[in-house]
Amino acid sequence: MKRNCTMSQLILRSLLIMMLVITVVLVMNTGQNGAMPEAKASDISIASSSGSLSVETLSHSVHRAAAAIKSSNEKIVYLSFDDGPSKLTDQVLNILKKENVTATFFVLGEHAKHSPEIIYRIEDAGHAIGNHSFNHEYDELYSSFTHFWGQIKSTEEVLKEITGVRPRLVRAPGGTYGHFDETYFDLLEKGGYKVFDWDVDSGDSKRKGVPASEIINNVTSAKLKKEMIVLMHDGTGHAETVKALPAIIKFYKKHGYTFRTLSPEQNPVQFHISASVKNKGRISPSLAWVQTNVVPNASLFGPGKPLVLEAAGVETKLDPGEYSLRNGQYQVPVRTVMERLGAQVKWDQSSKTAAIAWGDVRIVIDTRSEKITGEQGETSARISPVAINHDKSSLWIPLRTLLESSGQTIVSVAANQQERRVKAQ
Ligand SMILES: [Zn+2]
Repeated sequence: MKRNCTMSQLILRSLLIMMLVITVVLVMNTGQNGAMPEAKASDISIASSSGSLSVETLSHSVHRAAAAIKSSNEKIVYLSFDDGPSKLTDQVLNILKKENVTATFFVLGEHAKHSPEIIYRIEDAGHAIGNHSFNHEYDELYSSFTHFWGQIKSTEEVLKEITGVRPRLVRAPGGTYGHFDETYFDLLEKGGYKVFDWDVDSGDSKRKGVPASEIINNVTSAKLKKEMIVLMHDGTGHAETVKALPAIIKFYKKHGYTFRTLSPEQNPVQFHISASVKNKGRISPSLAWVQTNVVPNASLFGPGKPLVLEAAGVETKLDPGEYSLRNGQYQVPVRTVMERLGAQVKWDQSSKTAAIAWGDVRIVIDTRSEKITGEQGETSARISPVAINHDKSSLWIPLRTLLESSGQTIVSVAANQQERRVKAQ
């Protein structure tokens, strides 16, 4: 690299810096960067009234812009497991725990009904749960939409009984290709569901007993994309998938991927409709049936109810939109919740940590290592992994994790027509 600068190089360099500043201002003002947890508006706006920018502000902003770029370059993998729960599910959960990653389980209603305790464990570990029909019988599911719908609803009731939550994520048995027509896609969406296919098929269900080496090879030889959903199975007979799983996780870690759970808030991956489904001679449901069954269904997931939170003798309310319900877990913006409960929250940009002081409770959320540390008085600190979501300008984490880190235990979770309520003490 040349060390000496000519005049024209200097001018060019100045121009580049100016362009960078303009870019930074644009990025900041569009609010598109999700990498600035709970920054105050005053921190963000550099279009200052004086028109001059201090070096400090500039370097700060460039630093932030870099953080924003880094965040938008984040590579995400969504591991998904279909056909469980089975005896193998616990082994899968153990591996995910050991590797400190989360995944999405598309479960069958009939298996969930027989093994509710496994559904509990999936939920408890912070994984997402989706609906994979009740019995996986293609002949029934794909004979007409009303049959498919019936199985989605019966599985949903089973899962709601166990977890208290109706899953919105749906995966079609065998995938949508060759199975779903326009009606299936449209009415499920109208009913409030999100249908997810996948990007990478691990090939573990291509035939019986596909060896782990082949499963690993299928996954690792697939083209890498910025976001990818990987299809695997944790149903009976998929012991080779369990064997392959650690290598698959290591592969994505090595390539810098973050592991996330699927969410009804994101754009789904869906296969296109194959021409062959037109020849299936299905009878479309009547308008009256759609009006009665599908249309009102979406309100089951709709917003509208505030979440009332009681913790340490303080009560506060989060309006719809100030919290979200993601696969059985309330997700909340840390600063909003803790400040309303009377805590002080400080964000440290250089270490990317949030520090909360709440009476004699100290909580630190490290967004880099995705760890939350809770300490109360003399008791020793407890450190737990935490799934963090950056949303606009906030840091969102599961309410349960936040409360437990502050030494609170959730004693009841309830909902009625007017409100949702979580009580902790
Ligand atoms: Zn399946």
